[in-house]
Amino acid sequence: MNADCLFCKIIAGIIPVKPLYDDAELIAIQDINPQAPLHVLIIPKIHIASLNDLVPEHDALVGSMFRRAADLARPRGYDVRGYRTVFNTGAEAGQSVFHIHLHLLAGRSLAWPPG
Ligand code: AMP
Ligand code: ZN
Repeated sequence: MNADCLFCKIIAGIIPVKPLYDDAELIAIQDINPQAPLHVLIIPKIHIASLNDLVPEHDALVGSMFRRAADLARPRGYDVRGYRTVFNTGAEAGQSVFHIHLHLLAGRSLAWPPG
């Protein structure tokens, strides 16, 4: 746990949330400022600041994050309609919380290229 990290505080229960999903390795929560009808953050329970800090030992965890996104999208019908999964990395990409999280966005037509 990183004492200065917002998502570590959520995972530790210091900031209460109602998770959509919770297991030993990750948590999925609704984004506080949703950018689509479904906007979920899939967050590993270990503190990793950004994709720049990934090592091979994290490969299975990152795979679990993407599979969790699909498993959250599917029962809501977004496997057919479509959804977007995004990791923002660094300032120009808009990363604001430096604890990796996978955005799952769905429920509206999403422009490409992104803004
Ligand atoms: P990023 O800008 O990619 O680092 O994404 C951080 C996301 O965390 C943003 O979409 C924020 O709206 C979201 N966020 C910030 N604080 C909270 C919170 N307390 N609970 C849920 N989501 C949050
Ligand atoms: Zn953290």
